[in-house]
Amino acid sequence: MESRDAIVDVWGPRTPHTGEWPQRPDLRVLEEPTEWVQSVCVLCSTGCGMDVGVRDGRMVGVRGRVDDRVNKGRLGPKGLHGWEANASADRLTTPLIRRNGRLEEASWDEAMALIVDRSKELKERYGRGSIGFYNSGQLFLEDYYTLAVVAEAGIGTSHVDGNTRLCTATASIALIESFGTDGAPGSYADFDLTDAIFMVGHNMASTQTVLWARVLDRLDGANPPKLVVVDPRQTMPARRADVHLAPRPGTNLPLMNGLLHHLLEQGWIDSEYIAAHTTGFPDLVRTTDPWPLERAASVTGIPVSRLEAAAEILGTTPTLVSTCLQGVYQSLQATATAVQVNNLHLIRGLIGKPGSTVFQMNGQPTAQNTRECGANGEFVAFRNWNNADHVAETAKVWNVEPSTLPTWTPPTDAMTMFRYAESGAIRLLWIMGTNPAVSLPELKRIHKILESPELLTVVSDAWLTETARRADVVLPTAIWGEKTGCTTNADRTVHLSLKAVEPPGQARSDLEILVDYARRMDFRDKDGAPLVKWSDSEGAFRSWQECSRGRPCDYSGMSYAKLRGGPIQWPCNDQFPEGRERQYEDGVFNTAMEYCETYGHDIVTGAAYEPNEYAAFNPMGKAFLKGAEWTPPPEEPDEQYPLFLTTGRVTYHWHTRTKTGRVPALQAAAPEPIVELHPEDAAAIGIEDGDVVSVKSRRGEVKGLARLSGIEPGVVFMPFHYGDWDEPERDGAVNELTITGWDPVSKQPYFKFAAVAVKRVAEGSGTRPADPTQVEASPGDGRRSAATERRAPAETPAGARARADGSARTSRDARERAGTPR
Ligand code: SF4
Repeated sequence: MESRDAIVDVWGPRTPHTGEWPQRPDLRVLEEPTEWVQSVCVLCSTGCGMDVGVRDGRMVGVRGRVDDRVNKGRLGPKGLHGWEANASADRLTTPLIRRNGRLEEASWDEAMALIVDRSKELKERYGRGSIGFYNSGQLFLEDYYTLAVVAEAGIGTSHVDGNTRLCTATASIALIESFGTDGAPGSYADFDLTDAIFMVGHNMASTQTVLWARVLDRLDGANPPKLVVVDPRQTMPARRADVHLAPRPGTNLPLMNGLLHHLLEQGWIDSEYIAAHTTGFPDLVRTTDPWPLERAASVTGIPVSRLEAAAEILGTTPTLVSTCLQGVYQSLQATATAVQVNNLHLIRGLIGKPGSTVFQMNGQPTAQNTRECGANGEFVAFRNWNNADHVAETAKVWNVEPSTLPTWTPPTDAMTMFRYAESGAIRLLWIMGTNPAVSLPELKRIHKILESPELLTVVSDAWLTETARRADVVLPTAIWGEKTGCTTNADRTVHLSLKAVEPPGQARSDLEILVDYARRMDFRDKDGAPLVKWSDSEGAFRSWQECSRGRPCDYSGMSYAKLRGGPIQWPCNDQFPEGRERQYEDGVFNTAMEYCETYGHDIVTGAAYEPNEYAAFNPMGKAFLKGAEWTPPPEEPDEQYPLFLTTGRVTYHWHTRTKTGRVPALQAAAPEPIVELHPEDAAAIGIEDGDVVSVKSRRGEVKGLARLSGIEPGVVFMPFHYGDWDEPERDGAVNELTITGWDPVSKQPYFKFAAVAVKRVAEGSGTRPADPTQVEASPGDGRRSAATERRAPAETPAGARARADGSARTSRDARERAGTPR
């Protein structure tokens, strides 16, 4: 029984509204459940509340929770179908150890003894920095918190990061740079109230389908908000937009600088708010000054008239919700661009008010938790690793000496960790619930590192992923639905997800595995008691509550009992016993020297500021306005590789398809990688819809099915989900093509621009590949598509660099020099 076919009708029927978002109960069950168990969907950062239907100890369906503030009962295609992956026949049920080159079944004792013996030996011989942990955005809060205690207070290594580095490292650092600490300022309810929405590099319709349904219900309501969308592809939000801005890859920052310049020029600012609640305004004026709309148009390729239209909406709307995601975070100057979106809200005074906020959006369901708990390169509870008082507070909670904690250096980011593993500095890398063999850039290099005989690669996962196949030890894990724990979504809403069924075979939760590891390693606190003082998730949660007390992400007023009554936003404490919907309502930000999470960075170079430099800024609760100069992309199209590649996601898959590829309906909806091309580019190369094409960069070559679409000319899109676990012959892992480079501040790798060449390798069947990202018509889609308008003659990044260098050429000269097809 199902409320609709969500594979076809992705967003479901409209429930237009002008204030309170109506309920809509979505349901899909294969058998009648005998029990419903409280849970939450963990297939994106929206965090939709759901119940899991159970019968005879098996999951048999799900239903949306209609009283949940996040989704009011709605579920998208992944939510309604994704749970089927739990019962897939190829779940790992026993530990595996590599012997004579083959992974063979082993007992838990054998596997843990191997890891523990090697850990002790390495720590003794090479020091605590020889062990690293690379985790996920898919575990629960309690798993991450236990990992942070084990790794940082037990081993004392600073090498702990999550795959959230690839996803939302920029979200957290952009919030920190502007507002002092991580954590979303606003609430999803702001979408219900706002007069305008600004989506920057965020294909919400595809990646957060229920949140897009919420926006659609406003767009179809009586008083629809204006919609401005920045995306090089003609996505569904782009087609619903009042103004669609399609910048050339690598030009997000010029676009934002141009828009801000225009707002300043027109006087569309709140001078009182700027004076009372921000610092750094002259810096912003200086960096945006060289960006009149004409120059922004020339560099981005967007017509001036369209930039003017967007700026007028953003400059005059009484309320505004902005969102950024991977189109910003995985592209050039990610932090600098995301900070400019924060700046837009600050100079207009549109933050901390109903209908006005900025979402530096999360991608993964528990990205917020790995950040809060200190398992992804942040220090625990948004503390400042460079502040001795914060270190002492943490040491007190964990009852260890402050010197135990690895705070002599910033936490190590994922790309550097893999570099250390490559060089032999890290000799044991424990990978939990993630699949870097498909998700990291320049994959051939990553595969070599994982397979290195000098590195003990340990993988905790539920399936034999492309990464697990290369491991020395594989530990079978219990996943969502098979364990209890909390998740926190992108608007700070904390859900409790209860165990619904038993895990298969001998699989154990990550928390259980880490507690066992801590016991076998004999980690002790400073009084000789066991360091990890809990054995279950509720015990971990209680310790976390104490750890978070007094910090922005304060959970001290929550409990499992309270969360059984429904989700709660943090902070939840004596002052806000039911949680707090919006932060910064009083215009006081978390930038005070003794409270802030870092002392900030130069957002162009990434250089960290020292405490005395921060003190000189004297923010005292004011938000930072930080401007940035543009730097053109390090790789641009040329004669040999004449197109720009951008990567992304499809509606039906999650990350590297470890779960969604095992759900028949989801896999059938998006079975193979597509290569999206503009018809003019395709015609120039002799490619038709459905042809098998190769996409080649300086680093590798992959194949996919051509799909001609409304993408910008000169740009190629491929989804990143497709490894080869299900089809060894498939050659579609697009990160074989992407460059090894990252944002200097957030250390988030670049996935949105790489120069490639495309050619046809085989004629297609004549069938056009399905539309896995809904860039074309679907039920409930656009009635307000933006008017078609020809692009401005675009200057290539090479040409723009020449302008920046003062050696301007005509844009035609620049195009010829760069070999960009037009
Ligand atoms: S929007 Fe995200 S959290 Fe909600 S049902 Fe879909 S995948 Fe799950």
